[in-house]
Amino acid sequence: MVQVLDKSFEVFITRDEIQTEVESLATKINADFEGEDVVFIAVLNGSFMFASDLMKCITLESEISFVKMSSYEGTSTTGKVNELIGLNNNLEGKTVVIVEDIIDTGITIDKIMTLLSMEGAKEVKVCSLLYKPQAFKGTHKPDYIGFSIPNAFVVGYGLDYNEKGRNLDSIYQIKESKSEKSKMLNIVLFGPPGAGKGTQSERLKEKYDLVHISTGDVFRGLDPTSELAILAKSYADKGNLVPDDVTIQILEGEVSKYPDAHGVIYDGFPRTTAQAEALDTFLSSKGTSVTKMISLVVPEDELKSRLISRAEVSGRADDADPVIIQNRINTYKSTTAPVAEFYKGQDKLIEIDGVGSIDEITARIFNAIDSLER
Ligand code: AMP
Repeated sequence: MVQVLDKSFEVFITRDEIQTEVESLATKINADFEGEDVVFIAVLNGSFMFASDLMKCITLESEISFVKMSSYEGTSTTGKVNELIGLNNNLEGKTVVIVEDIIDTGITIDKIMTLLSMEGAKEVKVCSLLYKPQAFKGTHKPDYIGFSIPNAFVVGYGLDYNEKGRNLDSIYQIKESKSEKSKMLNIVLFGPPGAGKGTQSERLKEKYDLVHISTGDVFRGLDPTSELAILAKSYADKGNLVPDDVTIQILEGEVSKYPDAHGVIYDGFPRTTAQAEALDTFLSSKGTSVTKMISLVVPEDELKSRLISRAEVSGRADDADPVIIQNRINTYKSTTAPVAEFYKGQDKLIEIDGVGSIDEITARIFNAIDSLER
């Protein structure tokens, strides 16, 4: 067993098992590409150890390049731009083998494939030491797989936990029973505007001793003269979503304020699939995950009348105007509702009837949480 930061890990795949598998992967690649001009592209940081051991067994006349994926904000028309840093080989007409330590959701490899498709390679194959079939949602399943593993948190042999543990020569798995973080109750409380998320969050917070994070409240609580507050208000007042990169950054900053929380209620986040993916990645880097999404189901007419009456007490501009309310509901339907599908795919969606008295709805939510196996 090893300790990395605050967590205990137990051996999952030994160095000998890794070595045997690396040799067998290299044997297949040597056979498949005999006589071809092959460029290996190893994706940093995680793949450095695997790439090094693999290349020692490659007998092809080949090149290797180490690249990093980077994303940055482009112009308003290009949106987020992905870039591969460090690729200086000419791939024209070559066979490319991407070397990855792990393929999890498959999002990174999809982005890399898109970027490489412009380089004129003859063919591009993917070789990953580890592959998580249960987490995979991408379009490029690896062509060469060392080990298919369950959806557990692993570290070592290049893989990190908060940047530590990459130097371990075996692969380790988190020791669930000892990990408090993995037992956290992380609830995404979901539903259209006016579904009662804020009201129910207050009750959940009390009963289960959770931290309540509402991105809407965070935006409204910013110093109103700050650039960020002005930007957020410019979207919120019209009933539009604040851009993902700003919202994700705000959310991560907020969660990081409570390192000892027993759990978190995410209220009003995630509202886009990109936010849901970012939350998964963020929580997984902290050794935890979303426990369940609780989705409050309320018909549209009821939402509208609730929001109009709420406006009298909330004083919120976006609650008072029927045109803005409609825009918020439309944005929910087009952009936010698919997030439920995202969690359904992970078997984490619980739908709750959100019509009835506040107490009745609270009782339904408590029941659902109390019957979770934890
Ligand atoms: P709420 O209080 O949850 O109704 O949020 C009020 C407004 O804040 C929304 O209409 C959005 O403009 C903004 N907002 C809150 N949460 C998010 C989010 N997760 N993504 C984008 N915008 C958000």
